[in-house]
This record gives sequence, C-alpha cells and structure tokens, in this order.
Amino acid sequence: MMGYLVIVAIAIVGMVLLAIGVYILLESVRGRNRWFAGFVLSASVHCLGYALELASSTVDMTMVFIKLEYVGIVLYPFFGLLAAREFTGNEIRFDRRRDRWLAGGLLAISLLTLALLYTNDLHHQYYADLELTRVAGLNIVKIIPGPWYKVFLGSALLSSVAVVVTVGVSWWRAPADLRPQYRLCMLGVMMPLVSYGAYALGWTPYGMDPAPVYMLFAILVLVYGLRSNELLNIVPLVRRIMVDTMSDILVILNNSNRIVDYNRSLRQLLTDCGGDCRGRLLSEVFKDYSQVVQLVSEGSEGSVEVHLKDGTDRVFRVTVRAVRGRCGGAAAKYLIMTDITNEMKLLQSMRNLAYLDALTNIANRRTLHSKMADLGGPQAKGASTCVLMIDIDNFKSVNDAYGHHVGDIVLQEVASVLKSNIRSEDTLVRYGGEEFLVLAPGMSLTDGLSLAERLRSRLDQLDVARDGHKVHVTVSIGVASGEVGPGCNAETLVRDADVALYEAKRSGKNRVVPFLHGQAKQVKQEGRAAR
Ligand code: GH3
Ligand code: MG
Ligand code: MG
Repeated sequence: MMGYLVIVAIAIVGMVLLAIGVYILLESVRGRNRWFAGFVLSASVHCLGYALELASSTVDMTMVFIKLEYVGIVLYPFFGLLAAREFTGNEIRFDRRRDRWLAGGLLAISLLTLALLYTNDLHHQYYADLELTRVAGLNIVKIIPGPWYKVFLGSALLSSVAVVVTVGVSWWRAPADLRPQYRLCMLGVMMPLVSYGAYALGWTPYGMDPAPVYMLFAILVLVYGLRSNELLNIVPLVRRIMVDTMSDILVILNNSNRIVDYNRSLRQLLTDCGGDCRGRLLSEVFKDYSQVVQLVSEGSEGSVEVHLKDGTDRVFRVTVRAVRGRCGGAAAKYLIMTDITNEMKLLQSMRNLAYLDALTNIANRRTLHSKMADLGGPQAKGASTCVLMIDIDNFKSVNDAYGHHVGDIVLQEVASVLKSNIRSEDTLVRYGGEEFLVLAPGMSLTDGLSLAERLRSRLDQLDVARDGHKVHVTVSIGVASGEVGPGCNAETLVRDADVALYEAKRSGKNRVVPFLHGQAKQVKQEGRAAR
C-alpha cells in the first residue's frame, strides 16, 4: 500500500512538472525562459519514468523505464546551465565561440550518456550491473556503476556547481531590489546539489533517488521567484504595450523582406494599409517610400529622411538593423522610423540664424565666404566670375528724414528687388549696413555690367510707400570680374568691385562703374576717407 502511494505521488509530481514546463514554454514563445522550460520538462520525464521504474517487477522492465527516465536526466546539465545563464542576464550566445563549445560539450556528454545507456547490454560501460530488491513494497534497483556512470555523475555535479556559482555571483552583484528574487533562485538551485550529495552519501530513505521530491520543490521555488517579480507574464506584456504605444514606427521583417510584425504607429504613415500588413512584402506596402525599401533591400544599416506624401510635410529618420539569430546568422531585421520634423525645423532655424541676415532674409557674409571657398575649387578652373558691390546712395538721409524703422523697410524692399532680378545660381549677400553684394559665377564683365545696370534702373523705378511718404532711393554699383584661380581669388574681386563702387560714388552716384586695372593705385593715393 505504502509503495503504491509513493508511486502515485511521484507520478503526480511528474505530471505537475509537465504542466509547469508546458506553461513556461508557452509563455516563453515571446523570448525568455525556454531553457528553464526544457529543464522542467526534463524533470517531468525523469519523474514519470521513475514512477514506472518503481512499479516494474522485472529487471528488463526496469531497464526500459530507466531508459525513458534518462531522456530527462541526461539533459539536466545542459538545460540547467543554460537556464542559469539566462536568469542572470548572461544568456548563451551561439555566435560566441566559447558559448558554442560549452553548450555543445554539455549536449555531447548528454547524448553520449544516453547512447551508452541504451547499448549498456553490449559493453556495461554505464552500469556494470543491476540488481532488483524489494523494499517497503517498492522495487528498488541497486546499481553497480560502470566508468561512464561516474563521468556523467561528475559532469552533472560540475554543472550544478557552475549553476550555483553563476546565480551566486549575480546575487552578489545584484542591486538591492533584485536581491530577494536572487535569494529564492539561489535556494532553488542549491536544492539539487544538497539532495544529490545526500543521495551519493546514502542518506536517502531506502537508497531512493530523491530527485522527484527536490525537483518539485526546487522548480516551485524558482517559478515563484520569477513570478513574484512578474518576469514571466508582466515583462512581455509591458514590452508589447510599450512597442505599441511608442510614437516611433517599428516594422519587423523576415529575411525575404516580408512584414512579420509592426506597431500601431505604422497606421499614421500608411493610411491605405487596409487592415493587416502582416505577410505582405515591404516593397508593396511602402511603395510610396522607395528610399526606405532601397535601404532595407541593400541590407545596410543607416538612416534616410522621408518626406510624407500626405501633405503634412513630416520628416522621418529610418534606421534599419539586422537581428542575429542564436547561431549568429541573420534571422530578421527591423526598421524604426522616428519623426524628426521638429528637430529638422529647429535645425533649419539654426541654419538660418547662422547663414541668413535677420532683417532682409538674404545670405550673410558667412554664406559669402563659404560660396567663395567653393569657387576656388578645381571645378571652377577657367570660368569667369563677376562681383557686384551695391551701395544705397545717401541712405543716412533716409533714416534722418523718415526714421530708422522706415530705413529698415527700404532695406528689405531693396533686397527683395535685387533678389528677384538675379539668376538662381547667383548669391545675393547683405555685405554691410546698406551695402549688398552679388556673386555671379560663370558671368563675364559685359554680362555683369548689364545685370548691374538692370538692377540700378529697377531700383531707380522703386518707390517705397510708408506712413504716407514715398521713399525713393538710388544705388551705385561697382562691378569686377575675373577668373577665380591661382592668380586671383574671390576676395580680390570683392576688393576690386569696392574700388569701382568708390569710383561710382565719386563720379556722381546712381551709376554703374566697372573696375579697371590701375584704379586700385589711384584709390590708395586719394584715400578711402573721401567716402
Ligand atoms: P553714400 O551715398 O556715400 O553711401 O551715403 P550713405 O548715407 O548711404 O552712407 P553712410 O555710410 O554715410 O551711411 C550709411 C547709413 O546706413 C548709416 C546707417 O545709419 C545706415 N544703416 C546701416 N545699417 C542700417 C540698418 O540696418 N537699418 C537702417 N535703418 N539703417 C542702417
Ligand atoms: Mg550708402
Ligand atoms: Mg555704405
């Protein structure tokens, strides 16, 4: 009767472990605890096999169930160590050589042990002999170990010690809030070691294998340890919610660029997605965003900016990342699209601050310098460049007559007239207070002079109406041209245009004057103070 009860109890333990194992495995579909599930399932096979072993009446039958039991037993060292590494956040990575060797070695010992046990009758390397005795109504097998039995026992013992050390070290290093969880894990992983020792020393009742009892307790403690911190159920759920509610768009792709999963934010981008995008090709779903498709198909990791075509004019940064599988090969990839519209606006206003004049919104001197630096490049060889230096005549009197405020408006109007009368490749710069400069690459002196004349006459026709007044201004323009290269840099052209401008002022204002060689010397003699 007693023996019958023990067998039933062990069988129940086996089934409970089976249920726990399956439960953890289902939970682990989203990632974690797969190794621990393997460990629990191994323990369940061990227990169920052991219950049958105790119930069997002949050595042959016993051997059949021992073989079944061992399918679980041999996998303890493998799953145990891998689960411990996963618990402690140092998961086995199959793209690392050392980890591959460790896991492969443990698995090889397991499989070799199983092979030797299954063929034991031929060589007696695992069990030298088996003997069935009946104790307290149970069939207890007395074994005489063979050499490989000791090797396997040693490896299992070593793996148990490694598990205890791994968890122990993490416990030692863990922050205070994770300590209680580690304490429980420690208790769980110590149990097999302690009871194994008791079994080896012959301290268990009737020499029975205590595995079913300690495994159940150890696993319950470990499951409680994990659940009490909600690692098994809450973490995947919270991750899911976080991914779904984040403003970034996340798309997961398989190796053939089909969409495997995506978060809700994708809907703001693809209004015509029509329900589920899963299983569809990226190129088809993202047909309006070819840059994204190209980046993904190149398999490169990087970013591109995407302007939306729904009229909202938003800019996204797209980042593609490859995900390596457990064995190191490319398993999948994901792309994250971050809305950077605000950053881009900020960047643009900072650029404007740095490169545009605040009053007239045309280029400032900083822009002129960078444009002039570009002109000196090797591609500019042989091309003539024109510089027009434009200065408003008697501008001081405008300020004096109508106020500084009206003077500002006149400056804006003049800038806008100039801007609308130059080519797109020309650069209009606010050079000083009421001085403007036009940098016209690839323009001859003749064309520069006719452009200057056109600008002068347009401005001469301009009347700025303000506060009941009509303000009329004229400009003087100095024009210089030359081939920007070794003998002449753009700064020289600016100086020459300035000399010509001086000449225009001196000879009566409201006119265009070209720079003629020899003028520079004359100006030096007369002195700039005259202006
Ligand atoms: P000239 O024909 O010889 O060029 O005479 P001018 O009065 O235009 O030249 P001057 O250099 O004597 O005076 C330039 C004036 O431009 C002085 C200054 O108050 C005015 N000015 C410079 N920058 C600004 C500005 O941003 N806004 C306004 N309203 N006036 C400005
Ligand atoms: Mg002036
Ligand atoms: Mg001036």
